[in-house]
Amino acid sequence: VEIRVSVSVDNNHCHRYAICQQEAPGVFELTHDGRLSYSAIPDPRRLEAVRQAARLCPMQAITIREVHR
Ligand code: SF4
Repeated sequence: VEIRVSVSVDNNHCHRYAICQQEAPGVFELTHDGRLSYSAIPDPRRLEAVRQAARLCPMQAITIREVHR
C-alpha cells in the first residue's frame, strides 16, 4: 500500500533555516525573495526525506498528514 502524505508549513513558526530544503530538495524550496515554498502533496518516493525534514526542522513548523484514499 502506498502511503501518501500532505505537507503543511506554519509560516508563523518557520524561520527559514532551509534545513528542510537540505533534507528534501525539490519538496521544500526557499525562494529568492525569502519565502519558503513547498509541495503540499509530495512524491511518495520522497516520504522518508520529508519525514526527516520535519524531524530536523528547528521550529517544528512542518506538519505531515497521511492521506488515505
Ligand atoms: S527547516 Fe523549518 S524553519 Fe527551516 S525553513 Fe524549513 S520549515 Fe522553515
